[in-house]
Amino acid sequence: MQLTERIRSVESRVEEACRRSGRSRDEVRIIAVSKYVSVETADRAVDSGLIHLGENRWQTAKPKVEVLGDRAVWHFIGHLQTNKVKEILGAFEYVHSLDRLSLAKELSIKASALGLTVTCFIQVNVSGEETKYGLDPAELFSFCREIQGLPALRIAGLMTMAPHEEDPERTRPVFRKLRELRDKLNQEAIFPYSVDGLSMGMSGDFEIAVEEGATWLRLGSVLLPNDDKGGTD
Ligand SMILES: *Cc1c(COP(=O)(O)O)cnc(C)c1O
Repeated sequence: MQLTERIRSVESRVEEACRRSGRSRDEVRIIAVSKYVSVETADRAVDSGLIHLGENRWQTAKPKVEVLGDRAVWHFIGHLQTNKVKEILGAFEYVHSLDRLSLAKELSIKASALGLTVTCFIQVNVSGEETKYGLDPAELFSFCREIQGLPALRIAGLMTMAPHEEDPERTRPVFRKLRELRDKLNQEAIFPYSVDGLSMGMSGDFEIAVEEGATWLRLGSVLLPNDDKGGTD
């Protein structure tokens, strides 16, 4: 399948999921995760209208960021080491993997120094899998109280990764729980603004995520599968 066909197919699946759940299509945005593909393919993705690109490692992102620059809006979606904050800050507007206080502080300090605000999603390990990063749901509210005063962070929402399931329907409780946590966060009004975003849904489960309220889908293989150009890592 060609890129344009893949985009069309994803688009119709997103539209269908919106229709089923009574949502408006413009509530859901797509991040094309470019971590499997070459600079050239990422470039074509942007030309085809996929302007939000996601990367999970600085090393893989760097050559793409250098070539594409601000033709794309960059989303950092992977585990972020504190010592990499400085590198990603100028390029990445969004961080989807805020999962600890030390990282929040470092992001705020380094962003302040650059006169920037970083838009963050707090990563929550809803499923409780040991292999996954993210805060325990029970720690979420105290974490939010601790970071709420950091000047250069804007919290846009919550992020989660569902476990891999043969039957995507089984991911639904994970996505639903993230939505409930977001709603509770707003009821408690920990941040002086409303926190609306839900970064959830990947290639195998995005339709369920849309039905449960996702506002940002992170789509890799379904849009930009490994193009085997070699040496992307
Ligand atoms: C790789 C990755 C994705 C995309 O995964 P696909 O299953 O290929 O869509 C989404 N989110 C994160 C955090 C990732 O690392």
